[in-house]
Amino acid sequence: MHKDSLAALADGLRNRRFSSRELTEHFLTRIEQHDGTLNSYVTVTAERALAQADAADAQIAKGEGGPLTGIPLAHKDLFCTNGVRTACGSKMLDNFIAPYDAHIVELLDAAGMVTLGKVNMDEFAMGSSTETSYYGPTRNPWDTARVPGGSSGGSVAAVAAGLAPVATATDTGGSIRQPAALTGLTGIKPTYGRVSRYGMVAFASSLDQAGVVAHSAEDAALVLQAMAGFDARDSTCVERPVDDYAAALGNDIRGLKIGLPSQYFGEGLDPQVRAAVDAAAAELEKLGATLTPIELPNTPLSVPTYYVVAPAEASSNLSRFDGVRYGHRCAEPVNLEDLYKRSRGEGFGDEVKRRIMVGTYVLSHGYYDAYYLQAQKVRRLIADDFARAFEQVDVVLGPTTQGTAFALGEQTDDPVTMYLNDIYTIAANLAGLPAMSIPCGQAAGLPIGLQLIGRHFDEGRLLNVAHAYQQVSDWHALWPEAYA
Ligand code: GLN
Repeated sequence: MHKDSLAALADGLRNRRFSSRELTEHFLTRIEQHDGTLNSYVTVTAERALAQADAADAQIAKGEGGPLTGIPLAHKDLFCTNGVRTACGSKMLDNFIAPYDAHIVELLDAAGMVTLGKVNMDEFAMGSSTETSYYGPTRNPWDTARVPGGSSGGSVAAVAAGLAPVATATDTGGSIRQPAALTGLTGIKPTYGRVSRYGMVAFASSLDQAGVVAHSAEDAALVLQAMAGFDARDSTCVERPVDDYAAALGNDIRGLKIGLPSQYFGEGLDPQVRAAVDAAAAELEKLGATLTPIELPNTPLSVPTYYVVAPAEASSNLSRFDGVRYGHRCAEPVNLEDLYKRSRGEGFGDEVKRRIMVGTYVLSHGYYDAYYLQAQKVRRLIADDFARAFEQVDVVLGPTTQGTAFALGEQTDDPVTMYLNDIYTIAANLAGLPAMSIPCGQAAGLPIGLQLIGRHFDEGRLLNVAHAYQQVSDWHALWPEAYA
């Protein structure tokens, strides 16, 4: 059952080949068997899952429910879940029981989905390897000596190993696409504002966006459909009808114009990754798309721009963790300042502290203009690059990452190398564009990801292109042997 598509699971439930309770128990058993090694789950909500499954079974018995009713999923541990710990990979929130549900949790509950639990992530979603988590690193199911990518490492490891059919995730600079690429999954980060951020622990509010990791574009489309839409509780959420993503799949891609940015194929790109991406582009050409070389000249500025903007916003967002309102509080503070200092000093890990320091610095008097304001201007130039490209082409195509999954510990002492993991993914966040990663090859048994970036609100087209490719390729159907 764990290798079935969501449509096949829905069919099995509707035709009573199995119940949602049986399906849920199957995944709970797999979690017990395999998660000791992988460490993808931080919290398993077995009792709640079985209660949700029973409710779904009752609905199905009455002939009610939709395409997701009774299907289990895992939530990245930064989406608030009423009554369930939401720790965000941090000691700071280790004792935090969310008093309400995030908007997307509400929506997916209402769609009849069953929450198996909360999955691991880099602390406050800062990282590209899931090694900064307070709960220890998550391992890549394709090779457990390697990282699954991050920050949504728990989401991808759980799905890639069949410990959940699908999972929610978030992407601030690449955290859906990079881990999806390193684990052979399909991940989509929608347009900024497409999905509500209400109840999602904030990292960098102008960049954060919720999305999905799944085994195929078809699965991702189903779940995104249920998550997207307007919510007045997130002031940046856009009031605009949601396209019918399932209906968009299966459209002909003849005449589709694909742009290949020279900046995404330059120095640093592993030749095997390049070969796989080139081959996938050629495959799309066979399906009737045209390939055009394009320029995104400000691409080299995206990582430095991001590492001013994101820490600045993080330093502001994380000021709420003060040991007073919620989260970790130090023992026996002698006065208020001591309370702040020790609570934050003990609650946050090194990477989070590094970001808070950088962010506070770039926002401080005398440096604000030189760094933060400057970064905002460059951010506009990066967005303008894409606006010009989209006058010429419909979709931008390139690699998701420069290489395949790296070894645990390999980059932990070198933050800048770690930051460069997102060299191809960050620009889409700075420009607020939808983007996805789909598997397009392997090197030495490790998955390679292809990235597609679209115009604002063009998720339907991205999913369709991905789906078209998945009709003529098998990379998305491969499973790591130990978890097949
Ligand atoms: N790796 C990037 C960072 O560390 C992006 C993380 C993300 O998208 N949440 O900030």
